[in-house]
Amino acid sequence: MTNLKDKKILVTGGSRGIGAAIVKHLAQCGAKVAFTYTSRPDAAESVIQSLANPEQHLCLAMDVTKAESVEQGYQKVLEFFGGALDGLVNNAGITKDQLFLRMKEQDFDDVLNVNLKGTFLLCKQATKTMMKQKMGSIVNITSVIGQTGNPGQANYAASKAAVEAMSKSLALEFGSRQIRINCVAPGFIETEMTHILTAEQKEKILDKVPLGRMAYANEVASAVAFLLSSDASYITGHTLNVNGGLFLG
Ligand code: NDP
Repeated sequence: MTNLKDKKILVTGGSRGIGAAIVKHLAQCGAKVAFTYTSRPDAAESVIQSLANPEQHLCLAMDVTKAESVEQGYQKVLEFFGGALDGLVNNAGITKDQLFLRMKEQDFDDVLNVNLKGTFLLCKQATKTMMKQKMGSIVNITSVIGQTGNPGQANYAASKAAVEAMSKSLALEFGSRQIRINCVAPGFIETEMTHILTAEQKEKILDKVPLGRMAYANEVASAVAFLLSSDASYITGHTLNVNGGLFLG
């Protein structure tokens, strides 16, 4: 198990799916975790109660698309962590799929706002703290779709490709302060986001996955833990693919 003992880590969208798996895994690795939710306080509470020492962790409401909500939430996290932050995981993400000619402007804006602007707003807060500390690690969750594109996901693909490009720029800007910025790009993972796919869509995808199955969320979580840890101390500006060999053609 990766060693993250007493590391203070903030995870966005930790109430369910991949985010919840990341929160649980980081806590098992010894980290103190703060995580956010928007619409499901009950789900967030059940994640925190599932952790070994719930009082060492924090869940809080934060809408990553709103600068004010991010600033206020981030201050609470800093207070809880005594002013320090070792790691940030930008996991909160949404899809609003539609073929391009039918895609509404609102669907484009919503996806870009959560996936890209949310990552931008959180990175702004976290890098201020990490600059003072002269250390820190940020992991942004992107997607295989940001590398390959996918019919019906122009908004989502654009948002994830943009996060990868932004992450490389941040890696260049913050390297001299020993702040590392990397991405984890999952393939298809069993979560609510993929439950909406039809059996036929799933079968088509699995045909292209050399490992022949969808991933479990904890397989993404262990890649995130690695990049946050000192085991990855010389890795920055990198995207780690957790996709079973899937590259949609
Ligand atoms: P889920 O839909 O299961 O969970 C999404 C999480 O994001 C929830 O915790 C949700 O909070 C939170 N969230 C949504 N909108 C906001 C917002 N405006 N502000 C703050 N939090 C928000 O998603 P997954 O676990 O499937 O995906 C997690 C990440 O992994 C995403 O970035 C996704 O793009 C990426 N990914 C997923 C893949 C998959 O196969 N599932 C494949 C590749 C990448 P709440 O519960 O309160 O609504």
